[in-house]
Amino acid sequence: MKRVLVTGAGGFIGHHLVSYLKKKSYWVRGADLKYPEYEPTAADDFALLDLRRWEDCLQATDGIDEVYALAADMGGMGFISAHHAEILRNNSLINIHTLDAARENGVKRYLYASSACVYPEYRQTDANVTALKEEDAYPAHPQDAYGWEKLVTERLCTHYLEDYGLETRIVRFHNIFGPLGTWDGGREKAPAALCRKVSLAKHSGSFEIEIWGDGEQTRSFCYIDDCVDGIYRLMRSNHREPLNLGQDRLVTINQLADMVAKIAGIKLARKHIPGPQGVRGRNSDNTRLREVLRWEPQISLEEGLRRTYLWIDSQVRAAERGALKSVPNRSSVGRPVSVS
Ligand code: NAD
Repeated sequence: MKRVLVTGAGGFIGHHLVSYLKKKSYWVRGADLKYPEYEPTAADDFALLDLRRWEDCLQATDGIDEVYALAADMGGMGFISAHHAEILRNNSLINIHTLDAARENGVKRYLYASSACVYPEYRQTDANVTALKEEDAYPAHPQDAYGWEKLVTERLCTHYLEDYGLETRIVRFHNIFGPLGTWDGGREKAPAALCRKVSLAKHSGSFEIEIWGDGEQTRSFCYIDDCVDGIYRLMRSNHREPLNLGQDRLVTINQLADMVAKIAGIKLARKHIPGPQGVRGRNSDNTRLREVLRWEPQISLEEGLRRTYLWIDSQVRAAERGALKSVPNRSSVGRPVSVS
């Protein structure tokens, strides 16, 4: 039985990936600073480790055949645009140490979770943006330290393949969303934040939410089940270059808010306030994804949002009843929506 490590297994994508790999009968070790928050892990072994530390990375990769490297200090636009030094330091340490420990321990395959945030700011100045192809990452000019670190680790993975023969795979996620992800506390991203705010607006009767900027900034959003399926397909493929993984349907944040409100069965007023918005527009060009994997994400935005809203609405109502440890602050009704 193949032994795999998922780092960041206490987080959103890592937790889903562990469940997916268990269904495929892998032996799975999860590693993270914390356990998953919303349901128990399906991992055979779960190690609480700080992967900024070399010794912890050696322990995590011991006896492992394949690594899915998802651990990162990250969040939505509000977090990413306000913690440059912390993000660059922590994520550099995590990625250099995890990759090198994998080499030291003779790991065969290594998938690195990169991001659409590597793409240069100058290609994303228009809401009606041209979808981004993998080669558009250069000449490099990511907007934030988060994107610079992702780009450098992509290079590191490529050189570990060339110099040490470690079979690295690099995936660039475009806004992944779904149930069992962070929905409160400041690190949540636009779809989760909108679901929480719409739920709170509905239950409080305020029917108004705040959005940073004019809400005409655009993104594409990919549902978590497609994400873990795509990760696995890439790991099994022979494709050694970075690959986009996302949907290629562009929507504005205002449209996203209206879709969630429709699912909740309410009409919303949007209050636009100043705040960080990230790049003006970003979309995934999926030409290479289709070529390489002979597959593309299947789940519609409406269906993904419906599943996500139902889960977050149940969390909000449980928190209001005091059934959850973390009770959302009522003032978070008005916390702005961010994208990264
Ligand atoms: P997440 O924040 O839910 O999960 C990341 C996990 O990494 C967290 O559980 C965190 O505790 C863990 N971590 C942080 N520092 C650590 C450390 N020092 N040691 C061990 N664990 C540590 O984020 P996610 O949405 O699941 O993202 C997973 C990966 O995908 C990340 O690398 C992220 O940068 C990348 N990504 C995600 C998206 C998205 O839309 N969610 C988009 C682009 C890229």
